[in-house]
Amino acid sequence: MKCREVTRTLSEAHERPLALGEQVALQLHLAMCSSCRNFRRQVTFRRQSMQAYARLDDDPDQDSAGDRDASQ
Ligand SMILES: [Zn+2]
Repeated sequence: MKCREVTRTLSEAHERPLALGEQVALQLHLAMCSSCRNFRRQVTFRRQSMQAYARLDDDPDQDSAGDRDASQ
């Protein structure tokens, strides 16, 4: 697998399930290639912050959960 395929597959990984062969090829490549490890970290971080943002957005209960201070 080449770096370009790795970065593309990493980007697609949250849109579709990866085949077992893809996962193995990814892991093998990531074990050897630090730039693709960096890319994976960026993708993961971006995805996590997007999920956190989306959760805040569609969960109105988040607001009342913040009332804990009042009850003490
Ligand atoms: Zn690479």
